[in-house]
Amino acid sequence: MPDRSRVLVLGGGFGGIGAVKALKKAEADVVLVDQHDYHTFQPLLYQVASDLIETTTVGHQLRDLFHDQSNVTVHEATVAGIDLDDRSVTFAEMAPERYDQLVIGLGAIVNFFGVEGAEEHAFPLYTLADAVRLRTHVLEVWEDADRDRSLVESGALNVAIVGGGPTGVESAGALAELYRRDFAADYPEVPPDKARIVLLEAGDDLLSMFRADIRRYARRALADRGVEVRTGEVVAAVEPTQVTLKSGEVIPTRTLVWGAGLEANPLVHGLGVDLQRGGRLPTEPDGSLAGHPEVFAVGDIAWTTVEGSDRALPQLGSVALQAGEHAAHSIMRLEAGKTTEPFHYHDKGTMATIGRGAAVVQTKGGRTMKGRTAWLAWGAVHLALLSTGEDRAKAAVDWTWAGFSHERPGRISVRTDQP
Ligand SMILES: Cc1cc2nc3c(=O)[nH]c(=O)nc-3n(C[C@H](O)[C@H](O)[C@H](O)COP(=O)(O)OP(=O)(O)OC[C@H]3O[C@@H](n4cnc5c(N)ncnc54)[C@H](O)[C@@H]3O)c2cc1C
Repeated sequence: MPDRSRVLVLGGGFGGIGAVKALKKAEADVVLVDQHDYHTFQPLLYQVASDLIETTTVGHQLRDLFHDQSNVTVHEATVAGIDLDDRSVTFAEMAPERYDQLVIGLGAIVNFFGVEGAEEHAFPLYTLADAVRLRTHVLEVWEDADRDRSLVESGALNVAIVGGGPTGVESAGALAELYRRDFAADYPEVPPDKARIVLLEAGDDLLSMFRADIRRYARRALADRGVEVRTGEVVAAVEPTQVTLKSGEVIPTRTLVWGAGLEANPLVHGLGVDLQRGGRLPTEPDGSLAGHPEVFAVGDIAWTTVEGSDRALPQLGSVALQAGEHAAHSIMRLEAGKTTEPFHYHDKGTMATIGRGAAVVQTKGGRTMKGRTAWLAWGAVHLALLSTGEDRAKAAVDWTWAGFSHERPGRISVRTDQP
């Protein structure tokens, strides 16, 4: 079918998936390429890291998502370069692909802001591999401390978490519950004050995008779970066994969780485009790149402004998903000889969970909800957002079990270097 257009979608995250699904009825061959063979549901990564849910609830095989879409081909390959003038993309492991339309949804990478030692020693929480690495590390540190009690005394069990946004708050709450419930039962001889959880935020308060009552509630809920919240604190250096703050204070820890910042996928630097803050690709109101109406940037990699302002849409899964769907509609309009329309983000509100029975919700209009009701709302929304019914069922079982038993089922580390 030589007159069918070829749509190349780079990245199987929320943006890429949104675009491919919305192209189901398009008269086009759609090629989706990701460096992994799975889609990652990032909002629940901290639950993998803290042993609450399984990796396969958060990582879903990409091919499986498109079994009912005959116009889609999926490849696992790493994008090496994008040539906008030649309309082609090169890959590390396969031959180049040409396109008529391109959707760039390659996401972001963690920004360590040049903090000494952070890249080498901190534990970011952005990919599924990050979550599994953190989970395994935490289990190993406790086993190390069990074998060598001097490690407990030297603060090896402490965890420091950088960033008081949703990622930091959710990680701190989840790790605190793991520590204060499961590990307290697994290692009853370790006093809780020898396993501190410290949340460090450079600004004045946690969850800066939320209203004051929500921020106060979040602090209280974290304190109830034994988290030390420290605001106005900046990390200056990270070493394998300690973190040094700008104030000079040293916190002994082998586990610094980095939930503090992102920058766009570095591939953007080869595009010859003037980049926006965080290296993000500036887009036209319809999500396309200036001078390239056939190329759309979606999700964390894009800088798409809110209508009537120069403020960019936030780096959220809901923004990425809707932007991907909009790119697909634009592509179909272009194919039908129509003009594209501006992208309007439908903001359904912001939410974060702090732990069992504790979450916060704020709607676009500023209405807030907190506590158990917000927690149930958070659970319902995240169940609905998961990729498939199978993932929803797996999460529901794990959450229900943990809800009744207070137990986290995944507390084993499988080492591939052992028999
Ligand atoms: C811990 C955490 C919690 C979050 N919680 C929430 C939340 O509660 N609610 C919310 O709305 N948002 C949340 N977010 C944000 C949300 O997950 C992101 O905004 C969203 O995933 C962005 O989607 P995306 O498609 O732009 O990028 P991604 O989902 O990151 O997808 C990018 C894809 O590109 C692929 N890729 C990257 N480089 C290459 C390459 N060179 N070659 C091939 N493939 C490549 C990656 O493998 C990945 O699959 C959270 C994020 C994190 C990290």
